[in-house]
Amino acid sequence: MSYAFPDLSQQLQDIATSGLYRSRRVIDSPQGIHLKLDGRSILNFCSNDYLGLANHPEVISAFKSGADQYGVGSGSAHLICGHSSAHHALEEELAEFTGRERALLFSTGYMANMGVISALLDIQDAVFEDRLNHASLLDGGLMSGARFKRYQHADTQHLNTHLSKASGNKLIVTDGVFSMDGDFAPLADLVKVAKAQDAWLMVDDAHGFGVLGAKGGGLTECFGLSQTDLPILMGTLGKGFGTFGAFIAGSDELIETLIQKARTYIFTTALPAAVAEATRASLKRVIADDWRRAHLKHLALRFRTGAEQLGFELVNLVSANSDDKFDMLSAIQPIVIGDSQRAVEISEHLLKAGFLVSAIRPPTVPKGSARLRVTFSALHQETQVDQLLDALNTAINKTHTEAD
Ligand SMILES: *Cc1c(COP(=O)(O)O)cnc(C)c1O
Repeated sequence: MSYAFPDLSQQLQDIATSGLYRSRRVIDSPQGIHLKLDGRSILNFCSNDYLGLANHPEVISAFKSGADQYGVGSGSAHLICGHSSAHHALEEELAEFTGRERALLFSTGYMANMGVISALLDIQDAVFEDRLNHASLLDGGLMSGARFKRYQHADTQHLNTHLSKASGNKLIVTDGVFSMDGDFAPLADLVKVAKAQDAWLMVDDAHGFGVLGAKGGGLTECFGLSQTDLPILMGTLGKGFGTFGAFIAGSDELIETLIQKARTYIFTTALPAAVAEATRASLKRVIADDWRRAHLKHLALRFRTGAEQLGFELVNLVSANSDDKFDMLSAIQPIVIGDSQRAVEISEHLLKAGFLVSAIRPPTVPKGSARLRVTFSALHQETQVDQLLDALNTAINKTHTEAD
């Protein structure tokens, strides 16, 4: 009986009839390529734990000894009494890893993005965002109160025309690896445009860190971008790093400004120190374990080749230096289906066959571009990729006939 919210049941009904209803699956195992779901073991192709570190023994043991040393709760925000030597050491290690003067930890990537953009901009300023940017970047831009422009995906010319008309401080914001497409921002061009137009550039490399670059430094490392080229660099720790949290890396001045002004930094409890200790252990694996990145690329290439042979619609790579496509393959390889209902049906068929692949629908992706977001882990084997391709082929053909 929802007399207090008379609209809600109608709204829920509408969401359901348009094939956009979201619900959760309850997992009974650690993260990994095998998940336990409803008593069954299924093969997981939708996690962002790209390097397979979320359940790594060294990371778990650092987490446990971190809890022994620091307890569980961090007690307060960083600026009160919650900033431990574990957080501090991790920040220094992340600064070194990214080749920046400093790094600042945030409790989540969502909060980092909201906090940074609104700390840097005001109503007299302007923010420019790729139209496929992650929701947290768009929300941060809106929350900042600055004039808000979305430019066509990866289209630096379109961006340039908007920029030349703007006044006040100008901030260009983009995903590095786009989270639902797996393609790359044209970073070399964006740096040029930003410099020419006297704008700041911010890159959210949530899906690049750990996965791309010889040492896992993400797109910044691939493109060789210094702190001057790319003054605001954001990374998350819950994906390739396999733990939790996020960071901003940049100049001393930038970090001090965020400590003074980023509301999502100031007004929230610090993440547990044990999580920082676990992340320090996973950073060591990220840097040392080249085999994880190399294997991921092999899997992604094998999948793309197989998917192309079967006639599936893959998302093309966008990159300024795409001569070396192999080097620039991300762990995200979506198959575009179009219709939301059908994407969900295919995903359900796959689950029956023992494969977990999530159907991504609007508003997460633009209307009419529902997709199966296939992601790989360094722990997958080639044969499992082949099994997935077979299962996809069966599921896609099955729903075709049913729909026709
Ligand atoms: C996941 C993600 C975030 C949010 O990070 P959380 O730590 O999960 O809050 C931000 N940006 C991008 C591009 C992401 O994919």
